[in-house]
Amino acid sequence: MDAPESPEDYYARIEAALGDERRLPVAVEEMPGWDIYPYEIDFLKIKPLAPLADTEPARRGEDPETCWCAEPVDPEADGLVWSNDEWKLSTDLDGSGLPIMVWLSPLTHCDLPTMPPAVAAGLGPLIATVSAAVEELPSVGRVQLAKYGDGGAHLHMLFMGRPARILQFRGSPMLDWEENLPRVPAEVVARNVRPVAEALVAAYGGRLGPAARD
Ligand SMILES: [Zn+2]
Repeated sequence: MDAPESPEDYYARIEAALGDERRLPVAVEEMPGWDIYPYEIDFLKIKPLAPLADTEPARRGEDPETCWCAEPVDPEADGLVWSNDEWKLSTDLDGSGLPIMVWLSPLTHCDLPTMPPAVAAGLGPLIATVSAAVEELPSVGRVQLAKYGDGGAHLHMLFMGRPARILQFRGSPMLDWEENLPRVPAEVVARNVRPVAEALVAAYGGRLGPAARD
């Protein structure tokens, strides 16, 4: 069997499907045509395909010396929801458009492919605890998880609460909706993250951060 496909061959297949101005046609029979897709498609155009980059760019904190984890965690840091000696959970106090959006990071410098076994073993139970606590929130219908890691090199797993009973926000287009939703006030963010932080303290010890406490 041949080796796995090269980036050039993958890109060439996309290029072969381009129409005018190097644009792909909108897949109207797929998600852009579903009710969960946030935009009307009558005037929708896909951006022209950019060239294949020469390399993957370096990310923030690629070198552990320059990563945030080179300094001890400040227990009073804005946005800190919970921490113990191995992990921290953070949020954005300016709010997202969702009832809750938090991210979990090990204090050990690693990304998902480079997690030491002990960190990996700790991650599974934490994912279960955070997911359960997020889904317990009355304004959350379902938890969504994401690991992108295109900007920051240090592992950060996102947990996002899909608003309860707003079925149009289901699935992966939720983030496109999110960008357009009004920001959730800081005081509401605090009320929503607190039970998640308390569930983590109950299960793993550690302490509530200012975002869950004040
Ligand atoms: Zn780091």
